[in-house]
Amino acid sequence: MAKLTCVSGVGDKSPACFILEGAGKRIMFDLGEGPEPGVFPDLSKVAPCDAIVLSHAHIDHIGALHLNDQVGSPPVYATELTFSAIPISIIPPERRKILPLYGSCMIAGIKAQTGRCGHAPGGIWVYLTIGKGFIYSGDWSAESKLLPYDQPPQAHMIVTDASYGDRNQSLSVQFEAIAEAAKNGAILSVPEMGRGPEIAIAFWNKKIPVRLGPDLCQEIRTLLSIEHLISDEAREILRRILQKQPEIDAPYREDEIIITTDANAESGHSAELLQELGDQAKFIFTGHVPDNTPAQQLLAENKARWLPWNVHPRYQDVLDQVKVTKAETVVPAFVNFKNAQKLLFALGDVASTDYEIELSE
Ligand SMILES: [Zn+2]
Repeated sequence: MAKLTCVSGVGDKSPACFILEGAGKRIMFDLGEGPEPGVFPDLSKVAPCDAIVLSHAHIDHIGALHLNDQVGSPPVYATELTFSAIPISIIPPERRKILPLYGSCMIAGIKAQTGRCGHAPGGIWVYLTIGKGFIYSGDWSAESKLLPYDQPPQAHMIVTDASYGDRNQSLSVQFEAIAEAAKNGAILSVPEMGRGPEIAIAFWNKKIPVRLGPDLCQEIRTLLSIEHLISDEAREILRRILQKQPEIDAPYREDEIIITTDANAESGHSAELLQELGDQAKFIFTGHVPDNTPAQQLLAENKARWLPWNVHPRYQDVLDQVKVTKAETVVPAFVNFKNAQKLLFALGDVASTDYEIELSE
């Protein structure tokens, strides 16, 4: 009998780590850290694994990879872009097995399939032919105008991102609030890899000019250089946004909308702007704001705004994914169950929140 063990990532906002046993193999999905630094999955009861599969390069999915020797230092499977975020000292080249962004592949000798997850560049969901079909979705979003989301196939069991639990607000509504808040100029301080280009596209579609920070321009060039990573429409818009950028050393105007990194004005170009403009800087933050960052301080003093930007599936998106996959067992992950009561109720009998779950053959 195949079996899933939810080592970490179910019941509360804890780092991702799941183990699937079946077809004579033991496969780990993700090995993350967080959300607070130093919080790792407990691997003390985990037997050696035949493979570690990584969904994407966010810290809550890969941040505990340095512990991989505790599960026997097995081969690691991920896309090229995900590997580019992992130091060679942690996973050496000879243990790296490249997965496609989408299509058929083999993982530890088992037939598998991947698809783009719409959440992070290089991010994927993974389907394995164990039991009557198993999908590990990692984090995902069906709303991105930048990153494609490939519909997964039918599967008996699915571990899905339920981060937004009961939220149902759309990205387009969220963008209207950002555009309104930014209409007299703003600095949108965003995390790397994805959100900056995505917000820039939203402004472009409303014919509102934006200015991009230097690292963001470089990020866009990287995204444009990799095949199949972003949608064709996004590719065209981003090329045109880059063409319209002013000279890099042109002075900033107070009424400009600037999109730049790093996310919490703690370093990089956004920190330079904060230094330069002081209280005149009109920051908007959209992500998780860690303690002891300039973002946290500015927000506490009412000198900046925080507005939401969806990067995970909403309540209805999760229900739609369950319908598409025809899953009979759904493991809602990466959410505190207090914040997902409506979703758990709607999932009803198919929701499983146990530590160990059997897969029917
Ligand atoms: Zn993520």
